[in-house]
Amino acid sequence: MAEAVLIVGQGLAGTVLAWALERAGITFVIVDGGQAPTATAAAAGIINPITGRRLVKSSQIETLLPIARAFYQDLETALGVPLWREMRVRRLFADDHERTVFASKQARGELAPFAAESDDSGFWIKDAARVDLPALILATRTHWRQSGHWRPQATESAFSLVIDCSGAAITRRSEFGFVPWEFSRGEIIEVAVAGLSPDVVLNRRHWIVPLGTDTAWVGATHQPGLTTADPSLAGRRELERSARSMLGQRPFAVTGQRCGVRVNLPDKHPIAGPHPSVPRLGLVNGLGSKGVLWAPFLAQQWVAYLLSDTPFVSKIAALRWAGP
Ligand SMILES: Cc1cc2nc3c(=O)[nH]c(=O)nc-3n(C[C@H](O)[C@H](O)[C@H](O)COP(=O)(O)OP(=O)(O)OC[C@H]3O[C@@H](n4cnc5c(N)ncnc54)[C@H](O)[C@@H]3O)c2cc1C
Repeated sequence: MAEAVLIVGQGLAGTVLAWALERAGITFVIVDGGQAPTATAAAAGIINPITGRRLVKSSQIETLLPIARAFYQDLETALGVPLWREMRVRRLFADDHERTVFASKQARGELAPFAAESDDSGFWIKDAARVDLPALILATRTHWRQSGHWRPQATESAFSLVIDCSGAAITRRSEFGFVPWEFSRGEIIEVAVAGLSPDVVLNRRHWIVPLGTDTAWVGATHQPGLTTADPSLAGRRELERSARSMLGQRPFAVTGQRCGVRVNLPDKHPIAGPHPSVPRLGLVNGLGSKGVLWAPFLAQQWVAYLLSDTPFVSKIAALRWAGP
């Protein structure tokens, strides 16, 4: 008899989906062959409710944030590993244009309830968070290795449903050739720096996220169209300049660099659900820069579909790209 669900890829998408299936009592196997490039290994794990040069509130954040918080907190309690940390973002204005955009959006109430106190140099964003992604991947992989749910590889034909969560490697599946995939390479640098507040992300074009008392990550670059995951000197220089501008006189030293490839879709929404005409194939992908926020909602959609045939929300369904 065919086994139940095979999840291909244990990045953020596959991990979150597998945990949701486990909680729902749905039998699964998850495989990961360590194929590069991945995004999760380079990601800082930040949820920032207001982002970008135009100071845009993340789409559907009021719905997604409580789902994400409950999901990661459940996982950390069950596995006994700290994963979720509430943070604040100190958004520093890059120029007068941003100052003006903030003033008008704030006056119209567009940034509520996330924009807090402001002054001439910037404003505070509340209800941000950081998920410790390396700890998430390690703890769940250890858990599933022990329970026999994790394998380095598996034969897909032995499963009644294959859910592809392979990030940028999705292009190998011609069945999803109708999806207009877009890619964006991203880099971060690791720095040694003392005295940062552990619960504050600094943000001006790039961000600095503290990881402890004397380490931080600075990121992330956006290089649309690139799918190679080799750290570059140009990326390092760009991030060093940004770190210097945010840290002022505070000295720092670069201790490492990582690179990953994000998958995006033109409408800036992720994609999840069964293939429109190959029902034993599905996916979760296109998480862009907001994977931590979106992944639990997408996993919830899969559980509802598998348990009670509930259709996927149309904004994220694979069907939206399949044409008439
Ligand atoms: C520099 C950078 C910083 C980022 N920072 C943030 C952030 O702060 N907050 C945030 O929310 N998002 C951030 N992101 C985005 C985030 O990383 C992604 O949204 C998310 O990690 C995507 O996860 P994924 O599981 O879809 O893909 P991936 O992480 O790429 O995982 C795919 C997995 O599939 C495996 N795989 C591939 N092919 C196969 C195969 N044939 N068989 C088996 N396994 C396979 C790979 O080994 C990999 O483990 C960042 C991205 C980058 C690049």
